Amino acid sequence: MMLKDFFMALSQNQLLNSAAKKYGLKLGAQSVVAGTNIDEAIKSIKELNAHGISCTVDNLGEFVYKEEEANEAKEQILKVIEAIHANNADAHISLKPTQLGLDIDYSFCLNNIREIVHKASQYNMFVNIDMEDFKHLQPTFDLLDELSMEYDNVGTVIQAYFHKAQEWLEKYQNYRIRLVKGAYKEPAEIAYQDKKDIDANYIKLIEWHLLNGKFTSIATHDHRIINHVKQFVKKHNIPNDKFEFQMLYGFRKDMQLQLAKEGYNFCTYVPFGNDWYGYFMRRLAERPQNLNLVVKQVFNKKTNTILGVAAGAFILGRLTKDQKKKRK
Ligand SMILES: Cc1cc2nc3c(=O)[nH]c(=O)nc-3n(C[C@H](O)[C@H](O)[C@H](O)COP(=O)(O)OP(=O)(O)OC[C@H]3O[C@@H](n4cnc5c(N)ncnc54)[C@H](O)[C@@H]3O)c2cc1C
Repeated sequence: MMLKDFFMALSQNQLLNSAAKKYGLKLGAQSVVAGTNIDEAIKSIKELNAHGISCTVDNLGEFVYKEEEANEAKEQILKVIEAIHANNADAHISLKPTQLGLDIDYSFCLNNIREIVHKASQYNMFVNIDMEDFKHLQPTFDLLDELSMEYDNVGTVIQAYFHKAQEWLEKYQNYRIRLVKGAYKEPAEIAYQDKKDIDANYIKLIEWHLLNGKFTSIATHDHRIINHVKQFVKKHNIPNDKFEFQMLYGFRKDMQLQLAKEGYNFCTYVPFGNDWYGYFMRRLAERPQNLNLVVKQVFNKKTNTILGVAAGAFILGRLTKDQKKKRK
Protein backbone atom coordinates (compact mmCIF):
# COMPACT_ATOMS: atom_id res chain seq x y z
CA MET A 1 0.00 0.00 0.00
CA MET A 2 2.85 2.36 0.85
CA LEU A 3 4.40 1.85 -2.55
CA LYS A 4 1.04 2.53 -4.18
CA ASP A 5 0.71 5.84 -2.32
CA PHE A 6 4.28 6.70 -3.22
CA PHE A 7 3.68 6.29 -6.95
CA MET A 8 0.31 8.06 -6.75
CA ALA A 9 2.08 11.02 -5.19
CA LEU A 10 4.76 10.89 -7.88
CA SER A 11 2.10 10.74 -10.61
CA GLN A 12 0.81 14.17 -9.61
CA ASN A 13 4.18 15.85 -9.22
CA GLN A 14 4.19 18.76 -11.70
CA LEU A 15 7.95 19.23 -11.54
CA LEU A 16 8.73 15.63 -12.37
CA ASN A 17 6.05 15.62 -15.03
CA SER A 18 7.49 18.56 -16.92
CA ALA A 19 10.98 17.13 -16.57
CA ALA A 20 9.84 13.79 -17.95
CA LYS A 21 8.26 15.50 -20.96
CA LYS A 22 11.62 16.93 -21.88
CA TYR A 23 13.60 13.73 -21.64
CA GLY A 24 11.50 11.56 -23.93
CA LEU A 25 10.42 8.03 -23.18
CA LYS A 26 12.53 6.78 -20.29
CA LEU A 27 12.42 4.32 -17.38
CA GLY A 28 10.78 1.61 -19.46
CA ALA A 29 7.85 3.82 -20.43
CA GLN A 30 8.60 3.00 -24.07
CA SER A 31 7.24 -0.52 -23.56
CA VAL A 32 3.81 0.79 -22.49
CA VAL A 33 3.66 3.97 -24.58
CA ALA A 34 3.31 3.57 -28.35
CA GLY A 35 5.83 6.21 -29.39
CA THR A 36 6.02 9.96 -29.11
CA ASN A 37 4.31 11.01 -32.36
CA ILE A 38 1.27 10.18 -34.49
CA ASP A 39 3.23 8.19 -37.10
CA GLU A 40 4.64 5.88 -34.44
CA ALA A 41 1.21 5.48 -32.87
CA ILE A 42 -0.38 4.63 -36.24
CA LYS A 43 2.34 2.04 -36.86
CA SER A 44 1.55 0.34 -33.53
CA ILE A 45 -2.19 0.49 -34.23
CA LYS A 46 -1.77 -1.11 -37.66
CA GLU A 47 0.31 -3.91 -36.10
CA LEU A 48 -2.44 -4.59 -33.57
CA ASN A 49 -5.12 -4.34 -36.27
CA ALA A 50 -3.28 -7.03 -38.22
CA HIS A 51 -4.01 -9.38 -35.28
CA GLY A 52 -7.71 -8.51 -35.33
CA ILE A 53 -7.36 -6.08 -32.42
CA SER A 54 -9.00 -2.66 -32.57
CA CYS A 55 -7.56 0.33 -30.70
CA THR A 56 -8.55 3.33 -28.68
CA VAL A 57 -5.95 6.07 -28.98
CA ASP A 58 -4.93 8.41 -26.19
CA ASN A 59 -2.82 11.48 -26.96
CA LEU A 60 -1.20 11.51 -23.50
CA GLY A 61 -1.71 14.51 -21.27
CA GLU A 62 -3.79 15.55 -18.27
CA PHE A 63 -4.25 18.25 -15.62
CA VAL A 64 -3.56 21.09 -18.07
CA TYR A 65 -3.93 24.61 -16.67
CA LYS A 66 -3.03 26.78 -19.67
CA GLU A 67 -5.40 27.51 -22.54
CA GLU A 68 -2.72 27.26 -25.20
CA GLU A 69 -1.72 23.78 -23.96
CA ALA A 70 -5.36 22.63 -24.05
CA ASN A 71 -5.72 24.06 -27.57
CA GLU A 72 -2.55 22.29 -28.66
CA ALA A 73 -3.91 19.02 -27.29
CA LYS A 74 -7.18 19.53 -29.18
CA GLU A 75 -5.34 20.22 -32.45
CA GLN A 76 -3.23 17.13 -31.93
CA ILE A 77 -6.29 14.94 -31.31
CA LEU A 78 -7.95 16.33 -34.46
CA LYS A 79 -4.81 15.29 -36.35
CA VAL A 80 -5.00 11.82 -34.79
CA ILE A 81 -8.58 11.47 -36.06
CA GLU A 82 -7.46 12.47 -39.56
CA ALA A 83 -4.54 10.04 -39.39
CA ILE A 84 -6.76 7.14 -38.26
CA HIS A 85 -9.10 7.85 -41.16
CA ALA A 86 -6.34 8.40 -43.74
CA ASN A 87 -4.65 5.12 -42.75
CA ASN A 88 -7.91 3.22 -42.66
CA ALA A 89 -7.03 2.09 -39.15
CA ASP A 90 -9.49 0.29 -36.87
CA ALA A 91 -9.32 2.78 -34.01
CA HIS A 92 -11.21 5.42 -32.06
CA ILE A 93 -10.32 8.14 -29.56
CA SER A 94 -9.96 8.22 -25.78
CA LEU A 95 -9.45 11.62 -24.20
CA LYS A 96 -9.13 13.21 -20.78
CA PRO A 97 -11.24 16.30 -20.01
CA THR A 98 -8.48 17.86 -17.87
CA GLN A 99 -6.18 17.77 -20.91
CA LEU A 100 -8.76 19.78 -22.81
CA GLY A 101 -9.20 22.45 -20.18
CA LEU A 102 -11.71 21.20 -17.60
CA ASP A 103 -9.70 22.85 -14.82
CA ILE A 104 -9.53 26.12 -16.77
CA ASP A 105 -13.17 26.59 -17.69
CA TYR A 106 -16.03 24.15 -18.21
CA SER A 107 -17.40 25.82 -21.40
CA PHE A 108 -13.93 26.11 -22.89
CA CYS A 109 -13.43 22.38 -22.31
CA LEU A 110 -16.90 21.55 -23.68
CA ASN A 111 -16.16 23.47 -26.88
CA ASN A 112 -12.83 21.70 -27.30
CA ILE A 113 -14.35 18.27 -26.86
CA ARG A 114 -17.32 19.21 -29.06
CA GLU A 115 -14.93 20.01 -31.91
CA ILE A 116 -13.26 16.63 -31.47
CA VAL A 117 -16.54 14.71 -31.27
CA HIS A 118 -17.84 16.59 -34.30
CA LYS A 119 -14.78 15.74 -36.40
CA ALA A 120 -14.93 12.10 -35.27
CA SER A 121 -18.64 11.90 -36.11
CA GLN A 122 -17.82 12.74 -39.73
CA TYR A 123 -15.89 9.46 -39.87
CA ASN A 124 -18.31 7.45 -37.72
CA MET A 125 -15.65 7.31 -35.06
CA PHE A 126 -16.38 6.85 -31.36
CA VAL A 127 -14.92 9.17 -28.72
CA ASN A 128 -14.54 7.91 -25.18
CA ILE A 129 -14.29 10.47 -22.42
CA ASP A 130 -12.00 8.83 -19.88
CA MET A 131 -12.98 9.20 -16.25
CA GLU A 132 -10.38 10.86 -14.04
CA ASP A 133 -10.46 11.49 -10.29
CA PHE A 134 -13.64 12.12 -8.28
CA LYS A 135 -13.22 15.89 -8.39
CA HIS A 136 -13.82 15.76 -12.15
CA LEU A 137 -16.50 13.07 -12.19
CA GLN A 138 -19.67 15.20 -12.14
CA PRO A 139 -18.37 17.74 -14.69
CA THR A 140 -17.41 14.81 -16.92
CA PHE A 141 -20.95 13.41 -16.71
CA ASP A 142 -22.21 16.94 -17.49
CA LEU A 143 -19.98 17.09 -20.58
CA LEU A 144 -21.38 13.76 -21.70
CA ASP A 145 -24.97 14.90 -21.12
CA GLU A 146 -24.45 18.03 -23.20
CA LEU A 147 -22.51 16.37 -26.02
CA SER A 148 -24.98 13.52 -26.32
CA MET A 149 -27.74 16.00 -27.13
CA GLU A 150 -25.92 16.64 -30.41
CA TYR A 151 -23.91 13.47 -31.03
CA ASP A 152 -24.27 9.73 -30.50
CA ASN A 153 -20.59 8.81 -30.92
CA VAL A 154 -19.61 9.63 -27.36
CA GLY A 155 -19.42 7.60 -24.15
CA THR A 156 -17.54 7.32 -20.87
CA VAL A 157 -16.19 5.13 -18.10
CA ILE A 158 -17.63 3.87 -14.82
CA GLN A 159 -15.13 3.09 -12.04
CA ALA A 160 -16.10 0.14 -9.84
CA TYR A 161 -14.28 1.39 -6.74
CA PHE A 162 -16.98 4.02 -6.16
CA HIS A 163 -19.85 3.08 -3.82
CA LYS A 164 -22.23 4.80 -6.24
CA ALA A 165 -20.96 3.08 -9.39
CA GLN A 166 -24.12 0.99 -9.86
CA GLU A 167 -26.33 4.07 -9.56
CA TRP A 168 -24.26 5.90 -12.19
CA LEU A 169 -24.19 2.87 -14.46
CA GLU A 170 -28.00 2.68 -14.38
CA LYS A 171 -28.25 6.39 -15.09
CA TYR A 172 -25.82 6.23 -18.02
CA GLN A 173 -26.78 2.78 -19.29
CA ASN A 174 -27.76 4.10 -22.72
CA TYR A 175 -24.27 5.36 -23.46
CA ARG A 176 -21.41 3.21 -24.60
CA ILE A 177 -19.69 2.43 -21.31
CA ARG A 178 -16.25 1.14 -20.42
CA LEU A 179 -16.16 -0.58 -17.04
CA VAL A 180 -12.92 -0.40 -15.03
CA LYS A 181 -11.87 -0.92 -11.42
CA GLY A 182 -10.59 2.69 -11.09
CA ALA A 183 -7.07 4.13 -11.14
CA TYR A 184 -7.01 7.12 -8.77
CA LYS A 185 -6.63 7.40 -5.03
CA GLU A 186 -10.07 8.11 -3.56
CA PRO A 187 -11.15 8.39 0.10
CA ALA A 188 -12.93 5.60 1.99
CA GLU A 189 -16.11 7.71 2.37
CA ILE A 190 -16.81 7.39 -1.34
CA ALA A 191 -14.75 4.46 -2.61
CA TYR A 192 -13.96 0.87 -1.67
CA GLN A 193 -10.36 0.44 -0.59
CA ASP A 194 -9.99 -3.34 -0.45
CA LYS A 195 -9.22 -5.22 -3.62
CA LYS A 196 -11.80 -7.89 -2.85
CA ASP A 197 -14.59 -5.29 -2.44
CA ILE A 198 -13.58 -3.52 -5.65
CA ASP A 199 -13.44 -6.82 -7.54
CA ALA A 200 -16.85 -7.88 -6.21
CA ASN A 201 -18.43 -4.58 -7.25
CA TYR A 202 -16.69 -4.76 -10.62
CA ILE A 203 -18.14 -8.20 -11.33
CA LYS A 204 -21.58 -7.02 -10.20
CA LEU A 205 -21.48 -4.07 -12.62
CA ILE A 206 -20.25 -6.19 -15.53
CA GLU A 207 -22.96 -8.82 -15.00
CA TRP A 208 -25.70 -6.20 -14.64
CA HIS A 209 -24.64 -4.37 -17.80
CA LEU A 210 -24.27 -7.54 -19.86
CA LEU A 211 -27.67 -8.87 -18.76
CA ASN A 212 -29.14 -5.47 -19.59
CA GLY A 213 -28.24 -6.20 -23.20
CA LYS A 214 -26.01 -3.17 -23.66
CA PHE A 215 -22.62 -3.28 -25.35
CA THR A 216 -20.02 -3.52 -22.57
CA SER A 217 -16.33 -2.71 -22.69
CA ILE A 218 -14.61 -4.70 -19.96
CA ALA A 219 -11.23 -3.04 -19.37
CA THR A 220 -9.05 -5.12 -17.09
CA HIS A 221 -5.84 -7.16 -17.05
CA ASP A 222 -7.29 -9.41 -14.37
CA HIS A 223 -7.41 -12.95 -15.78
CA ARG A 224 -9.77 -14.03 -12.97
CA ILE A 225 -12.35 -11.45 -14.02
CA ILE A 226 -11.84 -12.25 -17.70
CA ASN A 227 -12.37 -15.97 -17.06
CA HIS A 228 -15.44 -15.20 -15.01
CA VAL A 229 -16.86 -13.10 -17.89
CA LYS A 230 -16.16 -15.90 -20.37
CA GLN A 231 -18.17 -18.35 -18.24
CA PHE A 232 -20.91 -15.83 -17.57
CA VAL A 233 -21.56 -14.95 -21.23
CA LYS A 234 -21.59 -18.63 -22.11
CA LYS A 235 -24.11 -19.44 -19.38
CA HIS A 236 -26.40 -16.55 -20.37
CA ASN A 237 -26.02 -16.92 -24.15
CA ILE A 238 -24.67 -13.43 -24.52
CA PRO A 239 -23.22 -13.11 -28.02
CA ASN A 240 -19.67 -11.90 -28.61
CA ASP A 241 -20.84 -8.77 -30.39
CA LYS A 242 -22.34 -7.50 -27.12
CA PHE A 243 -19.03 -6.98 -25.36
CA GLU A 244 -15.31 -6.48 -25.78
CA PHE A 245 -12.27 -6.89 -23.59
CA GLN A 246 -9.86 -3.99 -23.33
CA MET A 247 -6.31 -3.80 -22.03
CA LEU A 248 -3.59 -1.19 -22.01
CA TYR A 249 -0.86 -1.20 -24.66
CA GLY A 250 2.16 -3.28 -23.65
CA PHE A 251 0.46 -5.18 -20.81
CA ARG A 252 -0.19 -8.94 -20.99
CA LYS A 253 0.51 -8.93 -24.72
CA ASP A 254 0.15 -12.71 -25.03
CA MET A 255 -3.25 -12.63 -23.40
CA GLN A 256 -4.38 -9.79 -25.67
CA LEU A 257 -3.46 -11.83 -28.74
CA GLN A 258 -4.94 -15.01 -27.30
CA LEU A 259 -8.33 -13.41 -26.53
CA ALA A 260 -8.48 -11.94 -30.05
CA LYS A 261 -7.55 -15.36 -31.45
CA GLU A 262 -10.32 -17.00 -29.43
CA GLY A 263 -12.77 -14.76 -31.31
CA TYR A 264 -13.51 -12.18 -28.63
CA ASN A 265 -13.71 -8.52 -29.59
CA PHE A 266 -10.56 -6.98 -28.27
CA CYS A 267 -9.55 -3.33 -28.04
CA THR A 268 -6.13 -2.09 -26.94
CA TYR A 269 -5.78 1.33 -25.31
CA VAL A 270 -2.87 2.95 -27.15
CA PRO A 271 -1.30 5.94 -25.38
CA PHE A 272 1.33 7.97 -27.17
CA GLY A 273 3.19 11.25 -26.75
CA ASN A 274 5.69 12.91 -24.45
CA ASP A 275 3.33 13.49 -21.56
CA TRP A 276 3.70 9.91 -20.29
CA TYR A 277 4.79 10.50 -16.72
CA GLY A 278 1.45 10.60 -14.80
CA TYR A 279 0.08 7.69 -16.84
CA PHE A 280 3.20 5.61 -16.24
CA MET A 281 3.35 6.33 -12.49
CA ARG A 282 -0.30 5.24 -12.13
CA ARG A 283 0.60 1.95 -13.82
CA LEU A 284 3.42 1.50 -11.29
CA ALA A 285 1.04 2.39 -8.46
CA GLU A 286 -1.56 -0.20 -9.38
CA ARG A 287 0.94 -2.99 -9.80
CA PRO A 288 4.40 -2.45 -8.38
CA GLN A 289 5.58 -5.52 -10.32
CA ASN A 290 5.26 -3.26 -13.36
CA LEU A 291 8.52 -1.85 -12.11
CA ASN A 292 9.98 -4.81 -13.92
CA LEU A 293 9.39 -2.73 -17.01
CA VAL A 294 11.81 -0.16 -15.68
CA VAL A 295 15.00 -2.17 -15.68
CA LYS A 296 13.79 -5.70 -16.13
CA GLN A 297 17.05 -7.19 -17.21
CA VAL A 298 19.21 -5.67 -14.50
CA PHE A 299 17.40 -6.04 -11.20
CA ASN A 300 15.37 -8.76 -9.58
CA LYS A 301 11.98 -8.41 -7.89
CA LYS A 302 13.42 -7.84 -4.42
CA THR A 303 14.78 -4.49 -5.47
CA ASN A 304 11.41 -3.14 -6.60
CA THR A 305 11.15 -0.60 -3.80
CA ILE A 306 14.59 0.73 -4.51
CA LEU A 307 13.65 1.02 -8.14
CA GLY A 308 10.56 3.02 -7.29
CA VAL A 309 12.66 5.59 -5.56
CA ALA A 310 15.17 5.41 -8.40
CA ALA A 311 12.43 6.18 -10.92
CA GLY A 312 11.58 9.49 -9.25
CA ALA A 313 15.18 10.27 -8.38
CA PHE A 314 16.32 9.72 -11.95
CA ILE A 315 14.03 12.39 -13.34
CA LEU A 316 14.61 14.69 -10.40
CA GLY A 317 18.35 14.29 -10.91
CA ARG A 318 18.09 15.14 -14.60
CA LEU A 319 15.96 18.16 -13.78
CA THR A 320 18.39 19.47 -11.17
CA LYS A 321 21.28 18.98 -13.54
CA ASP A 322 19.40 20.88 -16.21
CA GLN A 323 18.61 23.73 -13.88
CA LYS A 324 22.23 23.92 -12.77
CA LYS A 325 23.28 24.09 -16.42
CA LYS A 326 20.81 26.94 -16.99
CA ARG A 327 22.13 28.81 -13.98
CA LYS A 328 25.67 28.52 -15.29
C1 LIG B 1 -8.34 -0.06 -21.52
C2 LIG B 1 -8.33 0.55 -20.16
C3 LIG B 1 -8.87 1.81 -19.96
C4 LIG B 1 -8.87 2.39 -18.68
N1 LIG B 1 -9.49 3.61 -18.49
C5 LIG B 1 -9.58 4.10 -17.23
C6 LIG B 1 -10.29 5.31 -16.95
O1 LIG B 1 -10.83 5.99 -17.83
N2 LIG B 1 -10.34 5.74 -15.65
C7 LIG B 1 -9.77 5.03 -14.62
O2 LIG B 1 -9.87 5.44 -13.46
N3 LIG B 1 -9.08 3.90 -14.87
C8 LIG B 1 -8.97 3.42 -16.13
N4 LIG B 1 -8.27 2.25 -16.36
C9 LIG B 1 -7.44 1.67 -15.26
C10 LIG B 1 -8.23 0.75 -14.37
O3 LIG B 1 -9.14 1.49 -13.60
C11 LIG B 1 -7.29 -0.02 -13.42
O4 LIG B 1 -6.63 0.91 -12.61
C12 LIG B 1 -6.24 -0.85 -14.11
O5 LIG B 1 -6.75 -1.49 -15.25
C13 LIG B 1 -5.69 -1.91 -13.14
O6 LIG B 1 -6.69 -2.79 -12.73
P1 LIG B 1 -6.96 -4.22 -13.42
O7 LIG B 1 -8.43 -4.35 -13.60
O8 LIG B 1 -6.19 -4.32 -14.69
O9 LIG B 1 -6.50 -5.31 -12.43
P2 LIG B 1 -5.53 -5.31 -11.13
O10 LIG B 1 -6.42 -5.28 -9.93
O11 LIG B 1 -4.46 -4.29 -11.29
O12 LIG B 1 -4.88 -6.72 -11.29
C14 LIG B 1 -5.57 -7.88 -10.94
C15 LIG B 1 -4.69 -9.09 -11.15
O13 LIG B 1 -4.46 -9.28 -12.54
C16 LIG B 1 -3.14 -9.76 -12.77
N5 LIG B 1 -2.41 -8.77 -13.57
C17 LIG B 1 -2.71 -7.46 -13.70
N6 LIG B 1 -1.84 -6.86 -14.54
C18 LIG B 1 -0.96 -7.80 -14.92
C19 LIG B 1 0.16 -7.82 -15.79
N7 LIG B 1 0.59 -6.72 -16.41
N8 LIG B 1 0.82 -8.98 -15.96
C20 LIG B 1 0.44 -10.09 -15.33
N9 LIG B 1 -0.64 -10.15 -14.49
C21 LIG B 1 -1.33 -9.03 -14.29
C22 LIG B 1 -2.51 -9.94 -11.39
O14 LIG B 1 -2.72 -11.25 -10.98
C23 LIG B 1 -3.31 -8.96 -10.53
O15 LIG B 1 -3.31 -9.31 -9.18
C24 LIG B 1 -8.29 1.68 -17.62
C25 LIG B 1 -7.77 0.39 -17.82
C26 LIG B 1 -7.78 -0.18 -19.05
C27 LIG B 1 -7.25 -1.56 -19.21
